[in-house]
Amino acid sequence: MILGIESSCDESAIAIVDANGQVKGEWIHSQIAKHAEYGGVVPDLAVGEHLKNFFPLLDLARTELSIPAGLESVAVTCGPGLAGCLGVGITIAKTLSLQWGIPVNGVNHLRGHAFSPFMPLGNVHDLEKSKYFPHLGLLLSGGNTLLFQIDKDLTIDVLARTVDDAVGECLDKGAKLLGIAYPGAPELEKKAKDGDEKAFDFPRFIPKKNELRFSFSGLKTSLLYQLKKMADTEIDNCYSDLCASYQQAAFDQLVKTTKKVLGEKKYKSFGLSGGVSNNQKIRDDLSDLCKKREVCFLPAPKKYTGDNASMIAYCAVMDPGGLWSNEGQQLIFSPNLKICDLAI
Ligand code: AMP
Ligand code: MG
Repeated sequence: MILGIESSCDESAIAIVDANGQVKGEWIHSQIAKHAEYGGVVPDLAVGEHLKNFFPLLDLARTELSIPAGLESVAVTCGPGLAGCLGVGITIAKTLSLQWGIPVNGVNHLRGHAFSPFMPLGNVHDLEKSKYFPHLGLLLSGGNTLLFQIDKDLTIDVLARTVDDAVGECLDKGAKLLGIAYPGAPELEKKAKDGDEKAFDFPRFIPKKNELRFSFSGLKTSLLYQLKKMADTEIDNCYSDLCASYQQAAFDQLVKTTKKVLGEKKYKSFGLSGGVSNNQKIRDDLSDLCKKREVCFLPAPKKYTGDNASMIAYCAVMDPGGLWSNEGQQLIFSPNLKICDLAI
């Protein structure tokens, strides 16, 4: 079994996953309420909260699953993320590895998200590879918007990324303009359910021919100008229409680019991951697209869309070497690292 540790942003999380990729236990503490009053994550506050919250979580794991018995290694998120927050998780992982005499591996957080759609299928290596690969993945989170492909040897290639804001950031900032507290995207989704997504014609970013990339900053600005043009009563009267139209403008861009890429190559499965993939509307839109293209749709389980330690430990089991085919992409999907291999 592997102990996973995740501390890259504002979730303190640990989990235990076995060699088949089955989650045996998971314990998480979210700091969202602490940061909400500041309108975003405050790095120093997050570090202090991690320091406070990890030890009670470890205590729970110790009593509920009698660790360290049966643990073979520790897997910890080693980036990308807030430096101080990552430092807390890595220090805890190294300390436990010293104390228990087991190795610790660093897992790239984005690789963790990228493999999370496979979690319900168990061990990727036991799958009939030709049924699921090549795989197209879309990672939608607060800090990243990435379209990538995973080949059957688990090599990852980035196909498109955002040139400015991430989609989660775009939804949170739009929600803020609409008076919804951070992180506003989940509440925006609720309001959008009663609205008409065609009521307002917000811009959809169109990349140049033969170019694959996302951009969300223009959409956010267009909402700002739209709201400036409207009286408060007018905004109140069409509030859910504004929410629905704004959200859909962001999603249409994602669906359009995914459709284009699915049309270019025979992908066997399509995975959706990251915090924004918790949204039912984008799930439904992409599920419909996959049905039309006869591609197996693999959304990450909702529980594993946000930051969590289970996907980190799962990634360490599935992808211990961490492959990438293009040196230039190392910074995005850098390989998982061997931090230290201790037996003292
Ligand atoms: P992550 O960076 O992967 O932890 O995801 C966090 C991002 O996901 C934040 O921008 C959240 O607002 C966003 N998010 C969470 N739930 C939803 C939802 N239901 N719809 C859209 N975005 C969401
Ligand atoms: Mg994340």
